Amino acid sequence: THFGFQNVPESMKEALVKQVFANVATKYDIMNDVMSGGVHRLWKDHFMRTLAPTPGTKLLDVAGGTGDIAMRFLDYCKETHGDNTAQVTVFDINPNMLEVGKERFTKTPYHNTSQVSFMEGNAENLEHIPDNSMDAYTIAFGIRNCTHVDRVLKEAYRVLKPGGRFMCLEFSKVENPVISKVYDVFSFDVIPTMGQIVANDRDSYQYLVESIRKFPPQKEFAKMIKDAGFTVMGQGYEDLTFGVAAIHSGFKL
Ligand code: SAM
Repeated sequence: THFGFQNVPESMKEALVKQVFANVATKYDIMNDVMSGGVHRLWKDHFMRTLAPTPGTKLLDVAGGTGDIAMRFLDYCKETHGDNTAQVTVFDINPNMLEVGKERFTKTPYHNTSQVSFMEGNAENLEHIPDNSMDAYTIAFGIRNCTHVDRVLKEAYRVLKPGGRFMCLEFSKVENPVISKVYDVFSFDVIPTMGQIVANDRDSYQYLVESIRKFPPQKEFAKMIKDAGFTVMGQGYEDLTFGVAAIHSGFKL
């Protein structure tokens, strides 16, 4: 491929992913809006309403990047319950993304409170996070970047308290053949070209498209979640926008 990503050995994926997000960190938020026409905001809002955190919830937001999910989480708790005891840890492998996130939080009431903290590390190894310590675990548009998804799920299971919930928002597979065709053209041609124009970085956005295509379809991913020990309700996922994205969820019971 253009980016050569398909031929990269597994051992190099982590370094490559780090490079991609180091490249895009400062442009990340604006690019999300440009590429998705703002739809990622609706998906994330829906994701938070589905999680529906209760007062005092302790959330680990893995691959939290610039803190989009963390911000929504704290806003939800404040607006819905008047709660300021909920806590979120934004966890990410990339210090550049975390820096952008920290900067964003300085302009909010959560700055310098115990409601938000940042931690650098790999989703495959949450070594500094104790067993059974979190009420909820979220990962939004992050898991497809991880080399060993099974290890990510195993760690999610370990750190959740019994009764805790795992929730993943990720690009997924469009089943409808007509919409799928349109989406293919959009993703293969339009996204890398927009990456070139807006961020002057075609390769990182080419990687984005390839990583979406390589990620397992909804049912297969739901099975991986069950295999990690989670209990899922129904089929274990909900399609968003014809399956362009999906929310997968499971409980540690
Ligand atoms: N969750 C945020 C959002 O929805 O806007 C950020 C998503 S961004 C597309 C993906 C993030 O995953 C990047 O910040 C990247 O650094 C992080 N990431 C990639 N591989 C990771 C890993 N193995 N462990 C932790 N974070 C990782």
